[in-house]
Amino acid sequence: MVYLNGEFMPISAARVPVMDRGFLFGDGVYEVIPVYSKRPFRLAEHLKRLRASLAGIRLANPHSDAEWAQLIGRIVELADFPDQQVYVQVTRGADGKRNHAFPKLVRPTVFIMTEPLLPPPVEQRELGITAVSAADNRWLRCDIKAISLLANCLLRQQAIEAGCAETVLFRDGFLSEGAASNIFAVRDGVLLAPPKNHLMLPGITYDVILELAQQHGLPHQVRDILETEVRAVSELWMTSSTKEVLPIVSLDGRPVGDGKPGAVFARMYSWYQAFKRSVMRAGQDG
Ligand code: PMP
Repeated sequence: MVYLNGEFMPISAARVPVMDRGFLFGDGVYEVIPVYSKRPFRLAEHLKRLRASLAGIRLANPHSDAEWAQLIGRIVELADFPDQQVYVQVTRGADGKRNHAFPKLVRPTVFIMTEPLLPPPVEQRELGITAVSAADNRWLRCDIKAISLLANCLLRQQAIEAGCAETVLFRDGFLSEGAASNIFAVRDGVLLAPPKNHLMLPGITYDVILELAQQHGLPHQVRDILETEVRAVSELWMTSSTKEVLPIVSLDGRPVGDGKPGAVFARMYSWYQAFKRSVMRAGQDG
């Protein structure tokens, strides 16, 4: 079942008008929330980022956090699989005509669906994934989780066509993030993360990784990372809500470090799994 504008229905019954600004302009924002054993992970943080994205595109939040939690909870309950990825999308709705200017009266389109969340294949974790790099040619508000993902799709496709899993993006000589992930590096045993700013999405998983580093006493620095530096680090990781954390073992056909998942990755991966288990056991949303 999906939720669309106040109603729960089978996905085959869900319809959006062709004049919807999401369809015409990509005028909307979204969230993807991982759910383990029917418990949403970091829901409060995802709803906070949704609020920031909506404010970023000047669209009123159609629901309070409590209402969102209730709607999402219902969709999660209705699904017959325990681990899920819940997708939430809000667009600026339809206005009868195609006009860049905002409608006078905005009736947002609110859509929620869920799909099974499968952990990445074991080989990806054990052998690592490969990546290519590209110039980050997206707009300057990558902190907004906008549905207009054309640039991200084109950039990710470069990886796919090279037989790789992700595209690592550099802007003006600095690491920004992946086409659909945040990127971390390890240099001389120190975990490096690019600082949150308007050039990257503030990842929920990114925060979890830094919290775990802090908790377990792993040396870490949040700072600008040069492209030249990235090409000489011993480990490179990608993180996202659906992939959690994965080691990148090759960039543009050249090995990262010794070309195998690193020791720091192995530690972080086990901390992440233990954290997930503890959160789920405690029955909190992390
Ligand atoms: N950056 C981009 C561009 C993304 O699309 C995503 C999510 N797929 C991320 C970073 C990771 O964010 P999160 O950890 O919140 O899933």
